[in-house]
Order: sequence, then structure tokens, then C-alpha cells
Amino acid sequence: MPTQLPNPRVSPRFAGIVTFGRYPQLDAVATENLPLDWIIYGVPFDAGVTYRPGARFGPRAMREASQYLKRYHIEHDVDVCEKLSIADGGDAPVKPYDLRENAVAVAEWAFALSAGSRGTTKLLALGGDHSIAYANIRATYLRQGSPKGGLALVHFDSHLDTVDAVWGNQWGHASPFIRAIEDGLIDPRHMISIGIKGPLNAASDLDYAKGKGIRILTRDECSRRGAEGCARELGDFVASLKDAPAYVTFDIDAVDPAFAPGTGTPSVGGFSSTEALAMLRALKGLHVVGADVVEVLPDRDPTGITSFLAAHIAFEVLALSALRK
Ligand code: MN
Ligand code: MN
Repeated sequence: MPTQLPNPRVSPRFAGIVTFGRYPQLDAVATENLPLDWIIYGVPFDAGVTYRPGARFGPRAMREASQYLKRYHIEHDVDVCEKLSIADGGDAPVKPYDLRENAVAVAEWAFALSAGSRGTTKLLALGGDHSIAYANIRATYLRQGSPKGGLALVHFDSHLDTVDAVWGNQWGHASPFIRAIEDGLIDPRHMISIGIKGPLNAASDLDYAKGKGIRILTRDECSRRGAEGCARELGDFVASLKDAPAYVTFDIDAVDPAFAPGTGTPSVGGFSSTEALAMLRALKGLHVVGADVVEVLPDRDPTGITSFLAAHIAFEVLALSALRK
């Protein structure tokens, strides 16, 4: 069932109630049009940050910025809304005062979304700080029937996010992947972290990821290899998964602050928007079963380019999924 969209030649993109991509609200989708392929939902939560707050406003900003998303992907030659049925599931019931409680509440709510078609309907979460990735990964893993060994993970970020604890708390935005690996939701041998760069607190910050066998593709390594070399590396990674279910998590701070200034822990020397989109496209063939786009902090970006890019990143993930249908 294609996604029902308002006709932009009849109903202008700047009119109407805002949902992500102008996709229908989940509650408005008729039962006979289920199951959906994707539900997009917001997690307006930023209590897990270690620096600037404000990502709680990310989902609204991304929805607003997504009004100009169109349906046909030129590079992949795919009509995303023809291939996929997508709806906006609204926002998760966040618990702003407690990180652990929030992770549990969001994961449970997301697991229950469109419960009759859990195994078919995939989830794309709009953050929120990166701590919310744990919740959507958990929900995705369970909806996929708890695949043995855990999900593969494609992780775009300036940071590894495998710190055990910050300020005595293990559930903040520096820790989602150490928790997901500990809980068996992610297979670290099927995980790649792309865009990592320093400075770090110490060389030992890399120890956990290296010890677990996570592939680290640093920002500098990407520069040395160039666009084609990186695309080949990502293509090889996808092939190595042999169609195992994979999750894509995109921390917008992987992109240079010149292109994505609206973020909480900016890191200079990142990808351009073009490079980021090219790498997502290089994941063609990935069996994507869940995703998130996080760390968008609209108040730091009066131009709105960060949210605009983030909305397009979500669209790239959907396009990867559409290619497989
Ligand atoms: Mn992150
Ligand atoms: Mn980051």
C-alpha cells in the first residue's frame, strides 16, 4: 500500500497540520491499509546530554523541515512513497526527569506501536539526544523477534558513545551503544562507527570499541580514502552482513558544524551534507529494520539547515528500505 500524501500541486506544502514528510498520522490510517512499512515517531528528550541541551525540540523542527521532502529519489531511481507505506506515530511519552525510566518507557511504547503488525512495521525515531537510540534499538530488536546475536549497527557520529557512565549515570547520550551491546541488542562485530574524530579525553576512550571488534571508520580515514574509497568500504560492510537485519543511527554531529550547526556537542572537521548523503546511499542493499536521527538542536541554528538536512537523512534511510521492496 503506497503512502497517502496530499497532492502538492493542489494543497501547498506550507499549509495544513504538520506531520513528518506530510505522511498520514498513524491514527488516521484505515485498518485495511495496514500493515505499514514504517512508523516515524518523535522522542522530544534531551535530559541525557553532557553539554548543550535543546534536542527536545528536534522532532518538531524536523517535522517542520520535512514539509519540503518529495517522494522520488533520483539517485536510487525509486519512488519512496509508492514502494512504502509510512505514517507519523506522534511523540513517545518521555520521562524528562529520569534517564533509565525514559529508556524503558519509550522502548515499551515503541514496541507496542501498531502491535498487530509488529514484525513488519519498522520504526524510525526522531531525537532527542542520542540516549534515545537505546530505546528504539530495543523496541526494534524485540519487534524483529530478538535475532540471535543482536542487530547489525551502522553508526554515524563524531563520538563513539560507548562510555560506561558520565556523572555516575549509565543512560546518557554518551552510553547508548555500550548498553545495547551489553544487553545483546547489537552485535559489535557487525557494527561500524563512521565519522569518529577527536580530540578525546584519552587514547583509552577507544579501548572498549576496539576490544569488541567494532569497525571504526574515522573522519580522517574517510578523507584519505575519498568518496569512492568510502563507498567501497561501506558496500563491503553491507556485503559482510549477508542480509542480517541492521539498524542505522545518525548523530547529526557527524556532519560539520558549518553544515549542521544546530547540535549539542559540535565537533569540527566533519562531513559535508553531500558526503553524508553519499555515504547513506552507499549502504544500498542494507537490510534496514530500524533507524534514528538524533542530536538536532534547533535553537542553535536560526537558519534551520540542520533540521532540513536531518529530515533528508531520514528520507535516505527510507529510500534504502524502499529499494529492497
Ligand atoms: Mn552520539
Ligand atoms: Mn556525537
